[in-house]
Amino acid sequence: MKRIDHIYSNGAFQKPHGQEKFDLINPSDQTLIGQVILGDVTDTREAIAAAKAAFTTFSKTTVPERMDYLQRLHDAVLKRVGDLTEATMLEYGAPRDRAYGSNLMAAESFLNYKKVLEDFDFSRTVGTSQVIMEPLGVVGIITPWNANAAFICNKLATAIAAGCTAVIKPSELSALQTQIVIECLHEAGLPAGVFSIINGRGDVVGAELTRHPDIAKISFTGSTAVGKAIARGAVDTLKRVTLELGGKSPNILLDDADLTKAIPMAVAACFINSGQACIAGSRLLVPEAQLETVKELVKKAIAAVQTGPPSREGVSVGPLATVRQYERVQEYIQLGIDEGAEVLIGGTGHPEGLEAGNFVKPTAFVNVTNTMRIAREEIFGPVLCIITYKTEAEAITIANDTDYGLQAYVSSENSERAHRVAGQLVAGRVLVNCLNHDPMAPFGGFKQSGLGREYGVFGLEEYLEPKTIIV
Ligand code: NAD
Repeated sequence: MKRIDHIYSNGAFQKPHGQEKFDLINPSDQTLIGQVILGDVTDTREAIAAAKAAFTTFSKTTVPERMDYLQRLHDAVLKRVGDLTEATMLEYGAPRDRAYGSNLMAAESFLNYKKVLEDFDFSRTVGTSQVIMEPLGVVGIITPWNANAAFICNKLATAIAAGCTAVIKPSELSALQTQIVIECLHEAGLPAGVFSIINGRGDVVGAELTRHPDIAKISFTGSTAVGKAIARGAVDTLKRVTLELGGKSPNILLDDADLTKAIPMAVAACFINSGQACIAGSRLLVPEAQLETVKELVKKAIAAVQTGPPSREGVSVGPLATVRQYERVQEYIQLGIDEGAEVLIGGTGHPEGLEAGNFVKPTAFVNVTNTMRIAREEIFGPVLCIITYKTEAEAITIANDTDYGLQAYVSSENSERAHRVAGQLVAGRVLVNCLNHDPMAPFGGFKQSGLGREYGVFGLEEYLEPKTIIV
């Protein structure tokens, strides 16, 4: 069992003022794997003061200096991707490939921002004026557990590229990963105070970051409910906020899609990270005339999905992160049945032989209408809702009939048609016949999936304030 009894503040590992102990539980078997002492409001304020002091000089660093820091951060994290992967599998059950991929992304985010800096103009001529892009100040970074290291690193990389300093509050559920990230970032040798990392409760450390007058911006990834609380809390000091929130992403199979390719991809899009992904393609929209074929192929694809502990070879659906999350997903599966949807495969309860952990049966529902709660609310587990449509126009209407707008998927053999449909979808990102991620392109939500964008130049500009000089 690992004990984490320090926070990382002002360039050093420090004993926190906070006293609360938080247990880390292995979701595969409920054993105790660690304990972390959480930071409190005083710890948060001290880290903010250090970040404010560091900003005075860090904001004046040159672009080549910051590129050098980004390279060092990348190198330090890259060396530990293997350790991060093991920690990710252990503490929240992410399947190995997913854990590895997201931790590799964590390391790469520093190089991505080094690349963005190669040709970013911090001083531009606009009309007859000079516009200088100035760093905002101290940024508060708040991350969820489902790709904790990747979110910390991408947000920190953006802050460093901009010349901002940061106080980071990771998810307390991911303390093992966070510990490794801290060790890497410390090794990179940035000036003290440029970033601090405080394990703590959302309503303690996160809330203090949100209301503190010396925090210029909050960059948050997490649930829509907490994102709204952060937006409200940030109003008094008119902080900038970037909110990356939940989703209920539609996946439209057009009637010319190659179903033998599109269905396995649709199942993978829904079950990414065991279904615990903001971008999960959880609503599969299929032409009514093809429903029977789709049902057979979905059943076959899900039957082939291996559920089990993430260390087991071939597993692509692991346990859910917490008992609470397991219970929530069970409630949703039961709700789907009560609402009149039909279980095509899966259902409530543990898969056989996996009773000890937070394992759920990978599940697909048919006879789902878009008004049902299982089609409207983010379930955050491996549960696919199959909804039929009659015409392309109806598919687009159903896809857009949601409070969310983070991601959408389209499958078609006709790329012109796929692009036409993609153009009509109300979502921050549309994936056509693929499950790719482009770390240079903007990512973020329409509607209640968020505010602002991350990644690449668009992400960087959210950490900068334009100042116009007219002579
Ligand atoms: P969560 O909203 O419960 O917690 C996220 C973070 O916010 C945690 O660090 C938590 O401690 C903190 N927090 C909680 N209450 C707070 C408060 N009052 N003030 C400040 N901070 C507070 O989310 P989670 O369960 O950790 O993650 C799952 C959610 O994240 C899902 O809804 C998912 O869709 C979303 N998510 C979104 C994206 C995206 O990029 N859009 C990516 C991954 C996850």
